[in-house]
Amino acid sequence: TIRAQSSSVPEYIPDAKFYKIEAILRPWRVSQVSSALLKIGIRGVTVSDVRGFGAQGGSKERHGGSEFSEDKFVAKVKLEIVVSKDQVEAVIEKVKDEAWTGEIGDGKIFLVPVADVIRIRTGERGEKAERMTGGLSDMTFSA
Ligand code: ATP
Ligand code: GLN
Repeated sequence: TIRAQSSSVPEYIPDAKFYKIEAILRPWRVSQVSSALLKIGIRGVTVSDVRGFGAQGGSKERHGGSEFSEDKFVAKVKLEIVVSKDQVEAVIEKVKDEAWTGEIGDGKIFLVPVADVIRIRTGERGEKAERMTGGLSDMTFSA
């Protein structure tokens, strides 16, 4: 298959056909990120409300309580986006650009190899299951 961006695809380790981009973001930036992803043809996204701590540590929201109390955790949103290998960098760049404020707490992106994708409705696996109608690969390769 001819891939438009094949020359610029980095060699991720371990190698896989699909990767999951897992992004931990500020909740109020999520709609900006997801509409930007929709514009570039990303159709499949999973969103979860999560809580965590990093450098931000939850200090802004802290109000008394013990060192291990739950109020140290900051509310975040986790976006999970599974894409084919040649689409990974486009998604990472988009998430970075749209989530960035430059302040502590902007979040982090994890890249995870995905062994397979199975579409439950049809039983399809692999590339057929990962492709989405009107998705990024359709937008890139349709006439
Ligand atoms: P179908 O064509 O059978 O409807 P589909 O591939 O469009 O299948 P859905 O059944 O609509 O998939 O997807 C169910 C849920 O799976 C979505 O709401 C989303 O949370 C998640 N999801 C689907 N595709 C992806 C993806 N590529 N990355 C992350 N999450 C996804
Ligand atoms: N790789 C899929 C496609 O090009 C899109 C995957 C996604 O939207 N997460 O159709």
